[in-house]
Amino acid sequence: MPSRLTPFGGVGEIGGNKFLLEDKGVRVVLDFGTGFSDGGEFFEGSISPRAVNGAGDLFEFGLLPEVPGLYSERALQNTRLRYGSAEVDAIVLSHYHSDHTGRIGFTDPKIPVYCGETTSLIHEAYSDSRSSPLDDHEIRRFRTGGRFKVGPMEFVPVHVDHSIPGAYGFVVHMSEGAFAYTGDFRFHGRAGAMTLDFTETARRERPGTLLTEGTRVGQGDGKSGISEKAVLEETRRLVAGSKGLVFSSFRGNDVDRINTFFDACQGSGRRVVVSMRMANLLEKLKEDRKLRVPSVGKDLDVYVKRKKTGGIDDSDYYRWERKFLDHGVTAAEIGKHQTDYFLHLESWDFPELIDIKPDRGGTYIHSATEAFNEEGEKEEVVVKNWIRHFGFRYTQLHASGHAPEEGVFSLVERVGAAKVVPVHTEHPESFAPRVRRRGMKVEVPVKGKPVDIVG
Ligand SMILES: [Zn+2]
Repeated sequence: MPSRLTPFGGVGEIGGNKFLLEDKGVRVVLDFGTGFSDGGEFFEGSISPRAVNGAGDLFEFGLLPEVPGLYSERALQNTRLRYGSAEVDAIVLSHYHSDHTGRIGFTDPKIPVYCGETTSLIHEAYSDSRSSPLDDHEIRRFRTGGRFKVGPMEFVPVHVDHSIPGAYGFVVHMSEGAFAYTGDFRFHGRAGAMTLDFTETARRERPGTLLTEGTRVGQGDGKSGISEKAVLEETRRLVAGSKGLVFSSFRGNDVDRINTFFDACQGSGRRVVVSMRMANLLEKLKEDRKLRVPSVGKDLDVYVKRKKTGGIDDSDYYRWERKFLDHGVTAAEIGKHQTDYFLHLESWDFPELIDIKPDRGGTYIHSATEAFNEEGEKEEVVVKNWIRHFGFRYTQLHASGHAPEEGVFSLVERVGAAKVVPVHTEHPESFAPRVRRRGMKVEVPVKGKPVDIVG
């Protein structure tokens, strides 16, 4: 059987990447994420898959591939797949975003997970609150410059710049050929040079096939995206001009952005305040010296949410949260000294504003991508209502986690693989007219249809 790669997600959609690699009887899953609109035709609003039925409800609609030997006993209890000893030898991860990791919770914990060192730190931070999909799996770490083998397959991981630290692309050497996989990437973040490292390594390893993300290809957003550096400059300007509280929110773990906010506040007399969840992540990432994250307590403070009526009592907080109570800033403190703070919370923390009681005339920075689906649009309306209610000035300010179209094609051209497979894009058909000109072939992937890896 030829060396092959079967895509089960990230096909004609942004995110949900799931690839099965097979070579001489050895099987590896490369990313195993949840698509952003995965199953939206069947599960929406109050209708969701039953946790009690494991993978069964997702199998019903083809939302998870029925790969034997991949899933846990619990996930398979009510399905036609039988649980046996693990037949999948490894799961390899590009980065920790849920559209690449979100379905790992269904897999057999006997299967080891290979991830970057930074990804394992992020996992440990979320594991403190038992909310990491990698919980229960053995973790094997890699870093740029190293190589690792799973059976006949050799993986060459190389860092890329993305909106989460510890993102990787790979060159994978299989028995009958090699392919490169970009993971998610951009060139315009704080570490854009890392994507160039990936591009050059991929070019040197001469893969016959390139799997590239194409999130922004065919979206018609041209060069409208701004860089992280531009976000820094604009935030600095907003902070300098603000006469009230500066407040920002996004969902997730964009550590680059927290660094940007921290830098923007230097010399402004304002201290950055983050949620306990973000503080816990920053504390963990301090172990990674290269990242140079701000230090909790010294450089920035932690927002302490009220957990019940009355005062703040240590016993109300989880063990991992208690260590932050010393550096804690409460709603009352921020309310009293609004011009001393730059408050960053997660999007679900908007109700904290009710306790903070901000004066009118503050500045709100919406630091997330603009909504791309109906659910997101609804949330955006709600956010704007809150912002208007509290009299903030609304600013949308964000640098995308993904390269614009011309960045994707410059990488494709530089790597020079004969076959290009566009994934993580809603417009895989937009590649052919751009790539064919350069004597390369585009293979539009089909869910469940193997791509032969040759040359
Ligand atoms: Zn992604």
